[in-house]
Order: sequence, then C-alpha cells, then structure tokens
Amino acid sequence: MINFTVGPVQSSDAVRAVGGEQVPYFRTAEFSETMLENERLIKKFAHATDDSRVVFMTCSGSGGMETAIMNCLTCEDKALVINGGSFGERFVELLRLHGIPFTEIKLEHGKALKPEHLAGFEGQGYTAFLLQKHETSTGVHYDIDLVADFCKRNGCFLIVDTISTFLCDPFDMAETGTGVMITGSQKALACAPGISVMALAPSAIERIERNRCCCQYLDLKLALKNMDRGQTPWTPAVGILLQINVRLKEIEAMGGADAEIARCAGLASYFRKKLAEMELPFEVVSESLSNAVTPLHPTTQSAYEIFLKIKDEYGMWICPNGGDMRDSVFRVGHIGYLHKEDYDRLLAAFDDLRKKGFI
Ligand SMILES: *Cc1c(COP(=O)(O)O)cnc(C)c1O
Repeated sequence: MINFTVGPVQSSDAVRAVGGEQVPYFRTAEFSETMLENERLIKKFAHATDDSRVVFMTCSGSGGMETAIMNCLTCEDKALVINGGSFGERFVELLRLHGIPFTEIKLEHGKALKPEHLAGFEGQGYTAFLLQKHETSTGVHYDIDLVADFCKRNGCFLIVDTISTFLCDPFDMAETGTGVMITGSQKALACAPGISVMALAPSAIERIERNRCCCQYLDLKLALKNMDRGQTPWTPAVGILLQINVRLKEIEAMGGADAEIARCAGLASYFRKKLAEMELPFEVVSESLSNAVTPLHPTTQSAYEIFLKIKDEYGMWICPNGGDMRDSVFRVGHIGYLHKEDYDRLLAAFDDLRKKGFI
C-alpha cells in the first residue's frame, strides 16, 4: 500500500527500524538525554524562544488540544476560536466542555481567513485565541500573521494547533507570539501515533503555574517538573519517543526544518501541477492551500467511492472525509515518506479510472 493520507503517514526506514526493536527501560540517564535532545530540536524547528519548554504527552493530537485548554484557560478567560472544519469544531466542543467562555468565528468550508472576519472583535476584551494553523479537514491554511497581529494588539493568549502543518509549512513560534504550539507524532513528524508534542512559551508556563488543572494525568505542572530532567510523570510511549528522536535528527541532518518544508512543498507542487495538466474531473476546493494536503472535489463521482476504489483495486490510500464532506471531498497528502514516483502511480490510477468511465 502507498499511504497518501494525513496521518498516520509513511515513516522513513530508520524510524521504522526503531519500531522493530525492544522497548527499553526509561528511567535512565540515557533516555533523559534523548528526551532533552527531542526538546532542543523541537524548539529549534518551531523557532521557540530559549526560555520556552517542550513536553511530550502520551496521547494523540486531540489530547494535546484538551491539555492546552485544561491547563492554560479558565472560566475567567474570554476566548475566540476559528471554526472552519472538524478540527475547529473540536476546539469549540472542548471549550464548551471545560466551561471556558468563548465566541466562535465560523468559516465556510474551503474559505480563507480574512481581516474582515476579525475586525468586529477588536477591543472587546478577548483574552485568548485558538485556531488550527491548517484546518486539515478542509485543507485551508489560515493566515497566522493576521491572527498573531490581532493577538498582539488585543493581548490575547494564542494557542495554535499545528498538528498537520508543523514541518511542512513555515511557522515561527516566537515571531507569532504563540503561547502553546501543539503537534502530533503521526502527521508531518511521520512516526507512529501516540505522542502529542506541546511547545510552551513563558506566557503559557505562567498560566500553567497559576491554574489548577483538574486532571492529574494531563497536568502540565507535573509534566514540566519531570521534563526538567528529561522525564515524564508516567510511563510514556517510549518507543515512539525514540522514533521521534531518530526522525528529528534525520531532519536536522538533511538541513533542518526549512529543508523539510521545502521537500513537502516540492511534493505538493509536483502533484498539483501534474493534476492540472491531466484535466481530471477534480476541483481544488481550498482558497488557501497548505503544503500538507490537496483537498479535491470530484465532479462526476462520490469522493468516498473513489477512496474505496483506489484502496481496494490500486493498493493506495487517499484520505477520505467524514460527515457532510464524505461524498464531496477527498484529500491527497504530501507529508511523510513519499516520493514523486508515488504520485505518478496515483495519477496513473486516476487516469485509469477515467478511461474505465468510473470518474
Ligand atoms: C489530525 C489532527 C488533529 C487530531 O489529531 P489526533 O492525533 O487524531 O487526535 C487535530 N488537529 C488537526 C489540525 C489535525 O490535523
């Protein structure tokens, strides 16, 4: 199978080799060193300030989203949240569940974030802002500088879900004034699922120290205290943390975050250019594309039926959509260990489906 989804994605041979090894005992100086190296490289790739910290939570990306809300926000906050798809909707549900007062900015699927969406909220006493940098469900890459400027003017604490965009689109935590950056192990990090990585600016650490977290397992005070010595309060997903270490060093050796971003961008533009040349009955449905994924609306066949056909008859996974986008949109990812030849095979399969009259 070739995997063009947005997570889990394909891992490099070195990362996969780690998955085949015995999982070591972890309360050791050696494992601590690995963890501190992971922290150092994440900070570097995220352009975090020196006094920022990183914690590795054993949960999926959604667990990182909930952890950020539980530790950094309280009922005294007044939050703004962008909801342009299923991950924005998840932030909305979490804010509601945890009793954080909020206003939702709903965007039509596929539409970019524009200054007029924020204009009405200036000077209204908002204290926090949450968004996906890339709403993976619709493939819309939001203008983070627009949001960062709004937050600086209005004194908002900024929580950014970069789960599908970290390491495939440029992001600068310090420059944007981001308080919490959340990512996950199985997206552009291209490791097995199970770890959510959270980079925390001093503004976040201050909130964490001040707030009482009502969940012991996800309490970032404990995570930070343990991370002082490269450890975690509980047994983490040790094997995945070792994969992450191999992967981060691999990226570093290949030229760092910028080189990895350029590699993703190269795959995305290769696929998009060829796709346009072939004039397939697919429309690109995002006004603002990330390098991570190309969202496509097939005009002659159900998107989900195309997903099934490509899986069952061609041995490849494209990424189906859920909910009301099930039949109208599928996505082709550009993250993970993929090459141009893989896209040639996918495009040949689409061409074959057209010849057979399926699309
Ligand atoms: C995948 C994803 C998530 C959820 O991550 P899980 O690991 O599935 O919990 C959240 N936000 C964005 C933007 C994502 O792409």
